[in-house]
Amino acid sequence: MESQKQYKPKFSFEFYPPKTPEAIGKLQTTQAELAKLKPDFFSVTFGAGGSTRDMTFETVMDIREKTGIEAAPHISCIGSQTDEIKSILDKYIESGIKRIVALRGDLPSGSVGYGQFRYANELVEFIRKETGDHFHIEVAAYPEFHPQAPNPKSDMENFKKKVDAGANSAITQYFYNPYAYYSFIDNCEKLGVSIPIVAGIMPIVSCTQLVRFSESCGAEIPRWILKRLQEFGDDRVSIRQFGIDVTTELCEQLLTNGAPGLHFYSMNQSVASVAIWRNLGIDQRVSD
Ligand code: FAD
Repeated sequence: MESQKQYKPKFSFEFYPPKTPEAIGKLQTTQAELAKLKPDFFSVTFGAGGSTRDMTFETVMDIREKTGIEAAPHISCIGSQTDEIKSILDKYIESGIKRIVALRGDLPSGSVGYGQFRYANELVEFIRKETGDHFHIEVAAYPEFHPQAPNPKSDMENFKKKVDAGANSAITQYFYNPYAYYSFIDNCEKLGVSIPIVAGIMPIVSCTQLVRFSESCGAEIPRWILKRLQEFGDDRVSIRQFGIDVTTELCEQLLTNGAPGLHFYSMNQSVASVAIWRNLGIDQRVSD
């Protein structure tokens, strides 16, 4: 973990673009609550369809205007042509956006063709070629390995390709076993990768939702956590409290061992994240 200890920890929240008027209203409340914690930045995911993509930009602009806090759009490249990506980048530059989360993304079912990008390292390379050092580029990292990776070694080498292409820092997929993260960092150090790799944190608010997400993204739910969650049944209050306790302890361990920050997958909700930040005292920290 030595490579990571040199960085002052950064703390951030992720949102997804809301689709309905109710969801827009809910996000406004959530972003106002979370802004009080003074995160270093918010980020907003990017979907496969055209309208969701526009909503990423609109959500980013709204957050920045209403909270005064930096908001970073995610951008995914699979299925896209270079001119589409270039026009999105141009729009972001014109709007004063300086941080971007660059991803490959996943092809929606039924879509044909990969477009002009196959992997995220090609997107990072393209962003650097077209826009120089304008953007701080974040990329994704997978301590428990990407579900499509043929083996851990090639996944690590592919992660390094994104760093070599010009990524400034990374955010991990969520995990509940801190040793997966420590081992990932050790492997990065062996490959000479020393950029900050911020731990992605998923607060637990629903057992079924967590199981569904974890199956699709390849994150492991430790057996003891799953068994306890199942035991709570429909008791949402107990699930939330258990989730807050488990996640607080995970975050404490990660920070004590030198993680250079935490990125919370907020799911556009604030209660669990606020409780965890208060438990950790992050809300009291002095930011830059
Ligand atoms: P890559 O880094 O390209 O890796 C994908 C797979 O290809 C891996 O198995 C890797 O080993 C392999 N690979 C990579 N490069 C090469 C290469 N050059 N040659 C051969 N094999 C290679 N998805 C969205 O749609 N929108 C979002 O906003 C979004 N935000 C995310 C934020 C975070 C922090 C994370 C962790 C994930 C996010 N995702 C998002 C999900 C992500 O798009 C998927 O996990 C996707 O399957 C992989 O994207 P990637 O950028 O990690 O891909």
